[in-house]
Amino acid sequence: MPDRIDYNILVRMLHAAVQQVRDNHQNLSRLDSFGGDGDHGTTMLRAMELLSKTIDSSPKQLPQLLHDIGWAIMGVDGGAAGPLFGTFFMSMSEAAAGKDSLDIPTLATVFDSALAGVQKRTKAQVGDKTMIDALVPAVRALRDAPDLATALQNAAAAAQSGADSTKNFKARFGRAKNAGDKSIGSPDPGATSVALIFRGFYQGFHSHG
Ligand code: ADP
Ligand code: MG
Repeated sequence: MPDRIDYNILVRMLHAAVQQVRDNHQNLSRLDSFGGDGDHGTTMLRAMELLSKTIDSSPKQLPQLLHDIGWAIMGVDGGAAGPLFGTFFMSMSEAAAGKDSLDIPTLATVFDSALAGVQKRTKAQVGDKTMIDALVPAVRALRDAPDLATALQNAAAAAQSGADSTKNFKARFGRAKNAGDKSIGSPDPGATSVALIFRGFYQGFHSHG
C-alpha cells in the first residue's frame, strides 16, 4: 500500500465515494423522510455528480481539485447539506495548500481542517443527530494509525458507528429538529452520507493495490 495519497489516489478515493452515494441515495432520502423533507439523497446525488464532473474539468493538482470540488458542492441546490459538504472539501483544500501528496500526519491535518470548517458553519455537537456525529469520530480515528490503509479503515469504521449512534438521538438541528420524536429510531441522513463518503475513501485507497 502506498504511504502517501497523491493526486491519482485521491481521484480513486473520490470516485469510490461518489459511487457509494450513487448506490445508496434512495436510502438517504428515505432516512430524511422521517424527520426532514426526504430530499437528502437527491441533494447528495447532485453533489456527487458535480464532484465527478469537477474531477474531469479541474487542473490535475491535489489542493486545486479539492478547492474546485468544495466550490461546486457549495452551490448545489437543496438546502443545508450543500454548504456543509462544500465547506468540508473547501477546508480540506486549505490545509492541503502547496502539497502534491498527503502522508498520515498531513491527512490528519487536512481532515481536522475539514471538521473545523464545518464547525464554523454549525453549532451542532456530537449527540445532536447531524453529520457532526459521524465526522468527529472519523477525524479522530485517523490520528495515530500505523499506515494510511489502517487510518482510512479506522476512519470509515468510526464514521459508520457514529452514524449508527444517531439512531437513538433526537434531532436538535436542521429541519428534523421540528419533527419532534419522529426521527428517533432511524439514523441521521447527513451522518449516513459522511459514513458512505469515508467508506468510499477507504475502498478507493485500498483498490489502488
Ligand atoms: P435540508 O435539511 O435542508 O433538506 P438535506 O436533507 O440535504 O438538507 O440534509 C439534511 C442533513 O444535513 C441532516 O441529516 C444533517 O446531518 C445535516 N444538517 C442539516 N442542518 C444542519 C445543521 N444546522 N448543522 C449540522 N448538520 C446539519
Ligand atoms: Mg432534507
